[in-house]
Order: sequence, then C-alpha cells, then structure tokens
Amino acid sequence: MLIAHSRPALDNADIAAVADVIKSKQISQGALVRKFEKHLAGFISVKDTVAVSSGTAALHLALLSLGIREGDEVILPSFTCAAVLNAVLYTGAKPVFADIELDDYNISLKDAKRRISKKTKALLLVHMFGEPADISGFGKLGIPVVEDIAQAVGAEHKGKKLGSFGKVSVCSFYATKVMTSGEGGAVFSSDNRILEDARSLREYDKMNSFKLRFNYKLTDMQAALGLAQLKKLPGFIKTRRRIAAIYDAAFGNSPKKGIYYRYVIRTHKNADFIIAAMRKKGVLCARPVFKPLHRYFNTGGCPKTELAWQRAVSVPIYPALSNKEVTKIKNTLRDIIKLYG
Ligand SMILES: *Cc1c(COP(=O)(O)O)cnc(C)c1O
Repeated sequence: MLIAHSRPALDNADIAAVADVIKSKQISQGALVRKFEKHLAGFISVKDTVAVSSGTAALHLALLSLGIREGDEVILPSFTCAAVLNAVLYTGAKPVFADIELDDYNISLKDAKRRISKKTKALLLVHMFGEPADISGFGKLGIPVVEDIAQAVGAEHKGKKLGSFGKVSVCSFYATKVMTSGEGGAVFSSDNRILEDARSLREYDKMNSFKLRFNYKLTDMQAALGLAQLKKLPGFIKTRRRIAAIYDAAFGNSPKKGIYYRYVIRTHKNADFIIAAMRKKGVLCARPVFKPLHRYFNTGGCPKTELAWQRAVSVPIYPALSNKEVTKIKNTLRDIIKLYG
C-alpha cells in the first residue's frame, strides 16, 4: 500500500453534518454559510469573512476589492501555487515575481523591495507550507498586503493569528488543505468597504445596479463540512506538530513556528531522485511547489526559488496518518538519505 502524499481527515461527525444539510433540502448558500463566516472571523479575529467557492475566487475578490486592475502591478512569490498567479491575471494586473528566502521558503523582503515600482498596488504575502512570512517587514512597505493563509490557517505571529495582519486575507478549504470543505475559500478583513465589495461581487442575483459580478458562492453542504472541520482544527494542528517533532528528532531539524502544512527537507540530490526512491519503498513524496511561476514565462531572476525547486522534497505530514505510517515514512526517508544524501 502506497502512503499518499496528502489526504483529508474526515470522520463520522463530518458525514453527519453534511447529511443533515441534505435532509434539510436547504443545500445552496444559506444560514450555514453565514454561520461558517462568523466562526471563521472569530477564529482569525477579524471583523468579518466572506465565504466563497475556492481560494482562487477569494484571491480574485480580495484583489478586486483593493481596486486592482489592468495597468497595476502585483508582487507575489515565484515559489507558490499557480492559483495565486491566475488570480492576479484575472484582474488584468501584471504579476511581478519575487524570490524567496531559503530558511522558510517565503517571499524575500529584500528581493520584493527591489521590485516595487510606481505601479505596484499590492503584495501577496503567501505563508508557504504553514510557516509565517515576515509580517512586520512587509507591513512597513506602504503597499497593501494580501495575506494568503491557504497553507497556514491557525498559525500565529506574536500571539495573533495569521490572516489578521493583511488589509485583506484569503484562505482555501480544498480537500487536502489544513481544513476542508471539499472546495471552498474565504476573504477575511476588518475593513467594511472591502467586505462589502467582496460580498457584492460574489453573487449576481437581485442586485439594484449592474456591474460585472461572479458566481463564487459556497454551498451550505460545504459550509457544514467546513464548520465541522473548523472545530477540529486545533486538534489537526496539534497532530501536525506531533508528527513534525518525530521527523525533527530523526533528521536533526529544529522546530519551526508554523503549523507544518508541509514537512519540507532539502537534499543534496535532485528532488526527483529522492521522490522516485521513496516511491519505490511505498511512500509518495512531492515537490512542495509543482513548478515555480517564473518558469512558466521562461524568465530568471529567482535563484533561491530555483534551488528550492530542484532540491526540496515534501514528505507526507497530515492528521489522517496512522502512527505506523509515520514510523514507516521516517524510517524510509532515513534509509534513503543515508544512501543518497
Ligand atoms: C491551494 C492554494 C490556493 C488556491 O486555492 P483553491 O481553493 O485551490 O483555489 C491559493 N493559495 C495557496 C497558497 C494555496 O495553497
């Protein structure tokens, strides 16, 4: 049996929550979506939340609510998922890729600073793999910061939840994220105008004035699952940290601040080599980022991102892993590192 790189933690409480919604026949966006929004806002400590159909949709509405449009520039890390790039392109703005720091794989403050121009209207601060990016540093740049906590929901900086620092923040609840609603996302803010804009763009029906709007609604079935998962989120994070501590002890790594959405090791060999060797022994690992964004455009200028992409390997870490699986992953990786580095 192969151990999956990622899989959701679902139990009978999740099943019952969704079944109840189906029985009620109120299955589209309704009271449970609103309840999910309120609980999310309470958890992150922001004024309110707008639940949407995906993290991508949340990013799109967050950028629109900041007034981002054609001719503007948005800075984002190259070492992140393509959804972030898509959302920028949806608005017509120009994506400007910044390099990362190799200690936490997050966007580099120094490199991002170099890329600021008169046209820069926002910076996407993606907290990669569950590890908080340099919030204080980016907060001082004088550019609106959009925090992306899709991989870091529940992580904190100075005792406050990530997602509460940006002018607007976004999250994803895709199946294999930290917590899930199947597909889903949310926009977080404490700014009334941003919240109103995002809410008004999410749906098209029964509007007094016309503007280009979307259908980015979440369903009550998804919200029910999201609410059930949110209750378990502190436990999920505890389990992630417990597994990370086992890996840390085995590989001599020091503990991190974040929530370990990914456990990333850097090898001396090419990542593909280690991934193939692990697969042969029954453990599915992956590159933590499928392909750096600048590579899609055949541009350079992000040497640390290149190095991370070539050498970094993401090892399975998620609450649905059994103790036996964790032991197998640890031992297999240790053997392979001993052999190949
Ligand atoms: C998954 C992810 C997204 C996109 O979320 P979807 O719900 O899949 O659209 C955006 N940003 C980051 C950092 C992600 O990990």
